[in-house]
Amino acid sequence: MKAPGYIFAEALRNLIKKRATVLYPYREVEKIHLPDGFRGKIEFDRPKCIGCQMCFRVCPAKAIEIIEDERGKRPIFLIYRCIYCGQCAEVCPTKAITLGKVFENVALRKEELEVR
Ligand code: SF4
Ligand code: SF4
Repeated sequence: MKAPGYIFAEALRNLIKKRATVLYPYREVEKIHLPDGFRGKIEFDRPKCIGCQMCFRVCPAKAIEIIEDERGKRPIFLIYRCIYCGQCAEVCPTKAITLGKVFENVALRKEELEVR
């Protein structure tokens, strides 16, 4: 079967067109554009937390543990389980949780992927 001419035209166009991808992770890291609303690694503002545990209750991935410190109950976020759904941030009454723009969440030890 013969390929229609428009396929060749499209192939030619793409050969001379500017590249749409970036050479991440070795080069061009500065070209990565993360849109507003991007859901990356959790950032936790401990002073704002009132220990209500709402975040713990809604987390579908069981990525939140509640511990107690000198200031009362507080969550620990287990990033290695997190699916970045953002429900914890949405439900938090004091806005103590935000999902930042860090997306390179790789570590050799699990403990390095905990947000306290
Ligand atoms: S973003 Fe979703 S999965 Fe991650 S800790 Fe919050 S509720 Fe759990
Ligand atoms: S929902 Fe917010 S205020 Fe409540 S325990 Fe979680 S982080 Fe703290």
